[in-house]
Amino acid sequence: MTRMLAIAALAAAAALLAALPMPAQAQFNLNINKLLDSAKNVRSATREIDQKEEIAIGNDLAARLLGAAPLAADPRLQRYVNHVGRWVASQTGRDDLPWRFGVLEAPQLNAFAVPGGTVFITRGLLMSMNSEAELAGVLAHEIVHVLQKHHLKAIQKGAQTSLAGDALNHALKDASSSQARDKLISLGTEVYSRGLDKSDELEADRLGVMLAARAGYDSYGLPAVLQMLQAMNAQDSGVALMFKTHPAPGERLSALGEKMQPTLDAYAEQPQLVERFAAETRR
Ligand SMILES: [Zn+2]
Repeated sequence: MTRMLAIAALAAAAALLAALPMPAQAQFNLNINKLLDSAKNVRSATREIDQKEEIAIGNDLAARLLGAAPLAADPRLQRYVNHVGRWVASQTGRDDLPWRFGVLEAPQLNAFAVPGGTVFITRGLLMSMNSEAELAGVLAHEIVHVLQKHHLKAIQKGAQTSLAGDALNHALKDASSSQARDKLISLGTEVYSRGLDKSDELEADRLGVMLAARAGYDSYGLPAVLQMLQAMNAQDSGVALMFKTHPAPGERLSALGEKMQPTLDAYAEQPQLVERFAAETRR
């Protein structure tokens, strides 16, 4: 599959959403948008990348990353993951972003977000999960990366040090400035192989737990996945990249316990949807 076709398939999977009853939205007395705002980093000195540019950078990166692992040729699975992802994303109030979710045909355990609203999860990670609440927890973590522009800011920071300001603006504005644009993409892929700052990952865990709870899921979905990862050997090739690019699962679990215990406990009785997850993901 060529990259352009892969992007089209991604959009098609997101568009073909059949009716699937989603969990009831929780009576969540926290304003997540306000929380996201207050968690915003200090603005950098350069101008903000606008939403159109954010989506364009994301599309370039998605195409590049899709060259490394193709989308799973499984329309039902793609639809299901889009359902869950879009339901969780709809809790954020950022309906203006073109949210789409893609399952990559890769045995490794990984998930990552691309600027502008694209989230990928590997089939390997999906198959190691046990419930829709776990899937929602992982997707919520990735959705927070998009909302907080964690990757975008890391790429921008890299560009500021290695590209003159003018070259960066050209790369953003002008698709024909292919040299600068290629540089931006390679900075982007570098961020994905190196990983984000630890504080960004822990923030995505905290806000992700809240987001999944607000979407009506058992709040322990993400912690359950972290526990599963904790039990794995970091040298295992299936988790090597995930472990290299994220803080250790044990550290993430204790950070969550420290800051999020009341939320975890308050929403632990919400649905896990174990049977539906099995029915929709097992062939
Ligand atoms: Zn992350």
